[in-house]
Amino acid sequence: MSEKRTALVTGANKGIGFETARGLGALGWKIGVGARDDQRRREAVARLREEGVDAFEVPLDVTDTDSVMRAAEIVERQGGGLDVLVNNAGIVGDLDQMPTSVDLDVFTGVLDTNVLGVVRVTNAMLPMLRRSPAPRIVNVSSSAGSLTRQQDPQENTGPIAVAYSPSKTLLNAVTVQYARELEGSGILINAVCPGFVATDLNGHRGTKTPQEGAVSSIRAATLPDDGPTGTFFDVDGVVPW
Ligand code: NDP
Repeated sequence: MSEKRTALVTGANKGIGFETARGLGALGWKIGVGARDDQRRREAVARLREEGVDAFEVPLDVTDTDSVMRAAEIVERQGGGLDVLVNNAGIVGDLDQMPTSVDLDVFTGVLDTNVLGVVRVTNAMLPMLRRSPAPRIVNVSSSAGSLTRQQDPQENTGPIAVAYSPSKTLLNAVTVQYARELEGSGILINAVCPGFVATDLNGHRGTKTPQEGAVSSIRAATLPDDGPTGTFFDVDGVVPW
C-alpha cells in the first residue's frame, strides 16, 4: 500500500500502543504518538525515528478535554489531517480489588480513561477523519469485555478487575453505537479484543508479546480496504503481522 496515511495511536509510548505505532509506521505512514508521560513519549518517538518511522509527539491526556482538543490541533498541523485513529490508551486501575471493596474513585478513573477517553478523542478527531479517503477507527478493547467470558468459570480465572472488565464491555457497546451513527460516512470503526498480553498494565503476567497478542489484529482493522464496521476482532485467529 503506497498511499501515505496519518495515524494517531493513543497510549503509544509503551506496550501495545508503541508496537502498534511501530507496525503502522513500517507501512510508511506518519504516526502521532499520543500519551501523557513526556519523557517516555519523547523516547518512544526517538526510537521510532531511529527505525525510519515518520513519528511525531502528541502530548495527550484522554481524560482532559482541553488536552484532547490541543492534541487535535497538533495532529492537524503535524500530520496534515488524520486517516487512522487507534484508541489504545487504557488503564487497569483495580487489579485484584474485590467488587465489594472497590474504590469508587478508581472505578470512576477507569471508566473516564477506557470509555469516556475514547469518546472524547474520537469526537475531537472526527472532523479530520471525515476528510480522509479511507478513514478507520480502532478501539482497543479486551477479551475481558466479553460478558460470555466473564460468566464462564473456565475463562474467568485471571485476576479480578472489577471496573476494567465492565469498562471494556461498555467500550464494545459504544463502538457499536458509533458504527450505527457513522454507517454510510465511509468511516469504519471496529474494536479489537486482545487476550492477555505481557505489558506494564498487568505486571507482565501475560504470556504473549504485544505483536503476538494484539498488533496484527489492530493493523488489520486500520487498512484502507473495504471492511466490516462495528465488529469485534478476537485476537486469536487473526492474520499474523
Ligand atoms: P500499558 O500500561 O503498557 O500502556 C498503556 C498506555 O496508555 C501508556 O502509553 C499510557 O501512557 C497510556 N495512557 C494511560 N492513561 C492515559 C491517559 N489518561 N491519556 C493518555 N494516555 C494514557 O498497557 P497495554 O499496552 O497493555 O494496554 C494498551 C491497551 O490494550 C489498553 O486499552 C488495554 O486495556 C488494552 N489491552 C491490554 C491487554 C493486556 O493484557 N496487556 C489485553 C487486552 C487489552 P501514559 O501513562 O504516559 O499516559
